Amino acid sequence: MRRPFIAGNWKMNLDRAAAVALAEGLKEKAAGVDYADIAVCPPFVYLDAVAQVLKGTNVGVGAQDCYFEGNGAFTGEVSVEMLQDIGCQYVILGHSERRHIIGEDNELTNKKVKAVLAAGLIPILCIGEMLEQREAGQTDDINAEQFFGSLAGLTADEMKKVVIAYEPVWAIGTGKVATPQQAEEVHANVRKLIESRFGKEVADAVRIQYGGSMKPDNAKDLLGQADIDGGLIGGAALKVDSFMGIIEAAK
Ligand code: PEP
Repeated sequence: MRRPFIAGNWKMNLDRAAAVALAEGLKEKAAGVDYADIAVCPPFVYLDAVAQVLKGTNVGVGAQDCYFEGNGAFTGEVSVEMLQDIGCQYVILGHSERRHIIGEDNELTNKKVKAVLAAGLIPILCIGEMLEQREAGQTDDINAEQFFGSLAGLTADEMKKVVIAYEPVWAIGTGKVATPQQAEEVHANVRKLIESRFGKEVADAVRIQYGGSMKPDNAKDLLGQADIDGGLIGGAALKVDSFMGIIEAAK
């Protein structure tokens, strides 16, 4: 039985006071949750403040990206060691906004996944197709390309630690959620990809989150699907009540 994992991706939102207040609200409201893993991923500059609020609680902290080198002349970048130093446990990698707006490819994402694993943190690897790709019948091909490209060279033991987030790009921040059946079909196919490369034991263990306009009122149906093991939440993670509504739907 895979333990549900609900993570909030705060993206480039909030200010310091709002980030700390949201973390404090979650610390209080999520204190009794023992049936799911929970994490929040604030912008880099607020990570330390949020990590201090959530230290020793059941709400983990993750970053939205990182660089793959340990230190040195990489202006503007943040290393995994730095994230670890301030108490991060997770790093979101390959988010569609990084792939499609910033221009990151599978090769760079793969280096980051390896650096995160080498440091003992957990990568949340995002994959997902764009609307025109879905309409052209390329959903499974795009997910396979991003999956194999971003996870090239991993061992089975490393793969067991990876969390996959299937995020159809057309559903992110649009209010257009995939139906539970659409999402489950892709999740089941992603699990087959894991099995094809890493074997059944690993495929059964890896958690696959759904991301894309998940809200308290659609979370239960999505999370009730056999291969949907949690959610990566954008907009609805910015308020204590809506994030808690999704966490409670995972019960
Ligand atoms: C995301 O960015 O990972 C996401 C799923 O956003 P939203 O929930 O706002 O669609």
